[in-house]
Amino acid sequence: MDNLLVAENVSKHFGEFTALNNVSITIPTKSIFGLLGPNGAGKTTLIRIINQITMPDSGRVLFDGKPLSPSDVSLIGYLPEERGLYKSMKVGEQALYLARLKGLSKAQAKERLEYWFKRLDITHWWDKKIQELSKGMAQKVQFVITVLHEPKLLIFDEPFSGFDPVNADLIKNEILKLREDGATILFSTHRMESVEELCDYMALIHKSNKLLDGKVSDIKRAYKSNTFEVGIHPRDEAILLQELNSNFKVGKAHFKSITEDLKLSIQLKPEESANDLLQYLISRGTVNHFVEVIPSVNDIFIKTVTTNA
Ligand code: ADP
Ligand code: MG
Repeated sequence: MDNLLVAENVSKHFGEFTALNNVSITIPTKSIFGLLGPNGAGKTTLIRIINQITMPDSGRVLFDGKPLSPSDVSLIGYLPEERGLYKSMKVGEQALYLARLKGLSKAQAKERLEYWFKRLDITHWWDKKIQELSKGMAQKVQFVITVLHEPKLLIFDEPFSGFDPVNADLIKNEILKLREDGATILFSTHRMESVEELCDYMALIHKSNKLLDGKVSDIKRAYKSNTFEVGIHPRDEAILLQELNSNFKVGKAHFKSITEDLKLSIQLKPEESANDLLQYLISRGTVNHFVEVIPSVNDIFIKTVTTNA
């Protein structure tokens, strides 16, 4: 199957309140799919529907081409937003218990847990009680338990909240490796800026509606404006600015650099090429910085929300 998971026209109401309004997403097999949107957008509601914890009012979810069924639960690994581990139980004991519940034999569970604990450098936590761990530490343990039975589909609800930057980065890299090893991954986040490099595909959800979705590279291409950030040490600043202003839309740019360069943002017309601009700039001074401005997911979100409002 090309698409491991398809949600079609899913709606969900809580009383009068619409939590999801006709939302569809398609998750290609062996991809990382980011469900992005601010708090209260409806991300967790959709994830709970995919995990068969809540039923949609309308619409359906297909897993591997067939309507979701209770037996699919064992093929899905789910890290919920509300992390729940038994506080007074020891880490290792609990991890073994939960691994057995997911169908692993005792030997298998032990072997895989040893591998993961070593991998994340948390072997010394084995005999600690969960209540002795910080929130981030407990989250690391729960991450291991989620991936342990090597499910086809992994669903992480806000996997980075609660982590410091070092651990967030570590989990990011583990997610990339899980995809390389053949898993399909869906994760949600309200922190749009920090994760875009992780997703192959994404959907933006806002106030229960999907605003846009697709391949991240296609979306970014569609939203880019042919604008370049330039750092130049001009031979004659007045002439340069005059020439630029009569040919392009020119603004100030703000980026960090170690030079005293003139910093500009220059927008080309669709038919103009970056090479022509660069050649011209080189003829007028020393170019130290030349980068195309690619909109961030956050920029795209703001733009979409304001145009749809
Ligand atoms: P997100 O995960 O994007 O932050 P949620 O899916 O958790 O958002 O929630 C979307 C909206 O639905 C919120 O306004 C929330 O208050 C509401 N909601 C979620 N679950 C329930 C529920 N069980 N009963 C009533 N309202 C709910
Ligand atoms: Mg949520």
